Amino acid sequence: MQCKPPLSHASLMPIIARPETVFVRGQGDELFDSDGRVYLDWVQGWAVNSLGHSPAVVVDALCRQAALLLNPSPAFYNRPALQLSTLLTENSCFDHVFFANSGAEANEGAIKLARKWGQRHKQGAFEIITFHDAFHGRTLATMSASGKPGWGSKFPPQVDGFPKATLNDLESVRALIGPATAAVMLEPVQGEAGVIAAEHGFMRALRELCTREGVLLIVDEVQTGCGRTGPLFAYQAHDIEPDIMTLGKGIGGGIALAALLAKKSVSCFEPGDQGGTFCGNPLACAAGVAVFGALLEEGFLARAEHAGRHLASGLRALAHEFGLGNVRGSGMLLALELGKDCAHDVVARAMESGLLINAPRPHCLRFMPALNTGTDSLDRGLGLLRTVLADLMPSA
Ligand SMILES: *Cc1c(COP(=O)(O)O)cnc(C)c1O
Repeated sequence: MQCKPPLSHASLMPIIARPETVFVRGQGDELFDSDGRVYLDWVQGWAVNSLGHSPAVVVDALCRQAALLLNPSPAFYNRPALQLSTLLTENSCFDHVFFANSGAEANEGAIKLARKWGQRHKQGAFEIITFHDAFHGRTLATMSASGKPGWGSKFPPQVDGFPKATLNDLESVRALIGPATAAVMLEPVQGEAGVIAAEHGFMRALRELCTREGVLLIVDEVQTGCGRTGPLFAYQAHDIEPDIMTLGKGIGGGIALAALLAKKSVSCFEPGDQGGTFCGNPLACAAGVAVFGALLEEGFLARAEHAGRHLASGLRALAHEFGLGNVRGSGMLLALELGKDCAHDVVARAMESGLLINAPRPHCLRFMPALNTGTDSLDRGLGLLRTVLADLMPSA
């Protein structure tokens, strides 16, 4: 037996097509591979590394907590979980928090909570209206809740009770509401669909509709939360209060952490209803406390929003120069429509030239740099992207 096996991917399940590159180190907005090549990273763990790769505040918090206490079990309180839950409720419209380990798990919790609420308060109502092209995760229930074409029936039998409405079409929601409806669940910005925002008027009218009909409003802020789109939480831009919210991705700054938040009036789990071995563990929550501390620092979110506007205007300039489509999104969650299905080529060529970006759909690019990326670094990335586009679209 070898002490040090060669680096091979033969033993990993092929769940996604990956380049051969092996990444070994990250610092701030840069990633380094095993050949010593450096990349400017605008994927950031899939909008996960809010403060960039291995930020000092998160590393310090993890080291301190790792030496202190890793896991007393979810059946006991621990200090970081108490701190983070208080930070979350003090800075949102919600009263109670359940910590989970992934966005899908937090969404499963939201689905369970809405169904329990339906049993308690609405004669067993269990349906949750979700949206075409939505993405809520990869468990059986969250796949059914997602609106990716074909997803609900991929691993039959599918989980029932997720009728699909159309984003920004209030009538399509109203038409689906009936006695069995417990909730409406949506992403304030559909990230995986290509950064498609729910419109301000739609969000406000949806809140009113849900209140009038007596159904819950659930926002999946796994991607949009924690400053990604500008405000601390995307729902705040619409001046509404949802009943339930889920967080994931950026909340842990790179560490597996997610959360389910609810208003007291709908927070009806009783002991035994929900849990998980690693849920609310001190190590992950310590990372969350460190990330939140940074987000809440005076001026942090304003600087991130400014950086987002800088990136958006750079992208609009490129779109104009190369005759591409529109730029969508806000804050540090942006997309560039290419107008044809060449996004995967652009992503591959960008990687060759040292820029990591992502194509949520074949015809568009998505950009999710660290929230603390400086404008110099953004300009460097825009320069790299310009060279790639000039190469691939010389005739434009
Ligand atoms: C990524 C994502 C999820 C799933 O989160 P995981 O941590 O991958 O389970 C759910 N909802 C939205 C909106 C997401 O972007």
